[in-house]
Amino acid sequence: MNRGSRTSMTNTPMTTFSEPDIPDFDVIRSCVHCGFCLPTCPTYVLTGKERSSPRGRIWLMKAVREGRMDMMDPIFDYEMSFCLNCRACEAVCPSGVEYGQILEASRAQLERAHNGGSAQARAAKGLTYGFLFKDMRRLRAASHGLKLYQRSGLQGAVRKSGILELIGLAEQEMMLPELSDEFLAPQGQTWPAIGESVGRVALFTGCIMSTAYADVHQATIRVLNRNGYDVTAVNEQTCCGALHVHGGDLDGGRELARQNIDSFDLDAFDAVIINAAGCGAALKEYGHLLHNDPAYAERASAFSGKVMDVAEFLAGIGLSAQPGPLAARVTYQEPCHLAHAQRITAQPRTLLEAIPELTLVEMPESSLCCGSAGVYNVTQPEAARELGNRKVDNALAVEPEIIVSANPGCMLQLQGILRSRGVDVEVLHIVELLDRAYQNRIPARSTAERAAD
Ligand code: SF4
Ligand code: SF4
Repeated sequence: MNRGSRTSMTNTPMTTFSEPDIPDFDVIRSCVHCGFCLPTCPTYVLTGKERSSPRGRIWLMKAVREGRMDMMDPIFDYEMSFCLNCRACEAVCPSGVEYGQILEASRAQLERAHNGGSAQARAAKGLTYGFLFKDMRRLRAASHGLKLYQRSGLQGAVRKSGILELIGLAEQEMMLPELSDEFLAPQGQTWPAIGESVGRVALFTGCIMSTAYADVHQATIRVLNRNGYDVTAVNEQTCCGALHVHGGDLDGGRELARQNIDSFDLDAFDAVIINAAGCGAALKEYGHLLHNDPAYAERASAFSGKVMDVAEFLAGIGLSAQPGPLAARVTYQEPCHLAHAQRITAQPRTLLEAIPELTLVEMPESSLCCGSAGVYNVTQPEAARELGNRKVDNALAVEPEIIVSANPGCMLQLQGILRSRGVDVEVLHIVELLDRAYQNRIPARSTAERAAD
């Protein structure tokens, strides 16, 4: 793997890491090369190559950090992009290597060194990261256009016309989310608890979740209300910034993080509830993202400390309202950023097991990444397809009626592949399933009604 010193061969200075956001050398050096992480790494599983493993990538980062490898070396560039940032390696590492941190810092270095990439890449990033995902009003306006495309019959006509195959966009178009009828725009509205209120939580509405998966938000609100919580969607909150941070735009992510921190009055809420695993992991890491910002560092840590995934919260309080029966065979797809980044694995299963008559069947390789990983479908379409098909094969192997997940990216990936295969298996968020079970619940009778029996 040692490709030698480019300086000595060409006499041109090597590009290396530079301020700000240099990958932390202590984190890099904490890898003891044990290799425990290799079998958990999707890109190592696919390729069998050391350089495409966590240990290999850490070796590459170390070589650049020590000036033995040029940061612009195509191998370094490729491996930083080929990694899914799924963090399966982090979850099993006995040395506690914070791999996500050093990967994101390495990507930020590359992003700056390449000046954002080709003109086409810069334009795409400017439109998405810099425009649509910087202001949720813009994203919702664009989503209305997409909804019109889907609802007007144009989508069906375009799919049948064959034009998508001709321009090579058929697969990407198949992955488009089916947008919700009603979006959820946070305006400070509160949905009161059913019965006596035991507390108050804030709902983090996010970007894709508030448009494509607004129905999941509605289900989340109903389930929390049933369990005695008032739910508020605070105004001025915005995208969590995960897409920016994972793509190497750390400053863009920081800008959004500051806006979110300013929007929430933490003292007013028991928790900030999130139902998207990727966003939850990002919110819980605001403390690290802003640790060098004297004006926000403390507030960022306090904010992160209040964030809870909805499954983590519900399992933690214990369901005070008993769900009704739901006789279905269900398998659970573990989102990487829930299982590996947040280490939340038991709570979703506890909630599923609380639903009477539901049969939970574990799929093989439940925690192996489904290949969605933010924009991975665009940057690494082949690997994304391979991992997605592997995940769907594993899920279908246990013959479920419903596949449950807890992250919009995973749900999109599963729904897209099932649709393209013509397989009719439902994909639901875990709170949608709980909400459905609550709708099957026999309403509790009042004391007077019971006395009249
Ligand atoms: S498990 Fe941790 S210490 Fe071992 S090789 Fe992987 S990253 Fe390094
Ligand atoms: S984040 Fe995932 S893909 Fe990247 S090195 Fe770790 S396990 Fe492999």
